[in-house]
Amino acid sequence: MEVPFNKPYITGNEIKYMEECINTGKICGDGKYTKMVSELLEKTMNSKKILLTTSGTHALEMALIQLNLEEGDEVIVPSYTFVSTANAVLLRKAKLVFADIDEKTLNIDINDVKSKITKRTRAIMPVHYAGISCDMDELMKVARENNIFVIEDAAQAVYSKYKGKYLGTVGDFGCFSFHETKNYVCGEGGAISVNLDGEDSIERAEIIREKGTNRSKFYRGQVDKYTWVDIGSSYLPSDILSAFLYAQLEKRDEIYAKRKAIYENYYENLIDLQNRGILKLPVIPEFSTSNYHMFYVLCESEKQRDYLMAELKKMGITAVFHYLPLHTSPVGNRLGYDIGQLPVTEKVGATLLRLPMYASLSNDKQEYVVDSIKRILSV
Ligand SMILES: *Cc1c(COP(=O)(O)O)cnc(C)c1O
Repeated sequence: MEVPFNKPYITGNEIKYMEECINTGKICGDGKYTKMVSELLEKTMNSKKILLTTSGTHALEMALIQLNLEEGDEVIVPSYTFVSTANAVLLRKAKLVFADIDEKTLNIDINDVKSKITKRTRAIMPVHYAGISCDMDELMKVARENNIFVIEDAAQAVYSKYKGKYLGTVGDFGCFSFHETKNYVCGEGGAISVNLDGEDSIERAEIIREKGTNRSKFYRGQVDKYTWVDIGSSYLPSDILSAFLYAQLEKRDEIYAKRKAIYENYYENLIDLQNRGILKLPVIPEFSTSNYHMFYVLCESEKQRDYLMAELKKMGITAVFHYLPLHTSPVGNRLGYDIGQLPVTEKVGATLLRLPMYASLSNDKQEYVVDSIKRILSV
């Protein structure tokens, strides 16, 4: 039996909507479907503005542009994240300050954040790893006390919640991804939720997204010609991809239910290994409602993790490790970071294994994964 790590879930209306989009004769950005998706996201997440972008990476870049960072300004980011969170900071020529993660949730360690705040700290970028929320009350408190922006990297956390509020709508900006590997997909895509008070920040986000022009205002008839007013880039997706995404989001409850069942099935069948001290399973804190983006196990050692991964591969199952800590990467080294500085991040990077997880994963295949893990670990 072959079990891939990920498989995009197709709901059935993708081609129909893409065809409809083509028939409208307007396939560039901000057409009918882009508007429909933005409105759906705003309404269902209670956000006052969500703009679709070409990727989660670009949503992060847009957020960082809005902060007007200057050389020497500092941004605190977990080292245990995807490169895009960190790249967005370096692209603004700001100083990247890596924080460690919490052993239980694998999210940014707020005590470590506190110890790294200086007069130059301008922003914190919490990542809601695996779709599980950071403790946002604690984090927002620290940020507000120190006059610091919060940009949520909610790339993995679309429709996850913190105390009933949708992730990505709690901080000043929230960034989402619709990459093929995420819960709701369109190949490559993303969105930014603008939560800062005031119309100015929404207008500026629209401008940055439209190459630094006020074209969005022009389309709404608020100005009679559009012109270059700020820096920006082309961050808006083709309406064809928005049409694809609309078909996904329409079926968000179905996708959520399937992922939840798969997550719970893994949990129930592997909890025995945790009770016997063989593996550790994910923890969802009380304040967090997960979107079940990922199911991972934490092994005892890197050796055990690599062995388990290799043996699963021989049995046709693709389980994968995740982030190599950014602070120990070549770029991290160039920035002056080194092994030994963020112990939890390093341990998790070496011992975490992600199991196959996608909405169409069958019971049979899942049972095969669980049985194979037990057989390999001889338990
Ligand atoms: C996927 C991901 C991104 C990047 O999203 P893209 O849409 O692939 O650009 C950023 N941060 C995190 C934590 C992610 O998981």
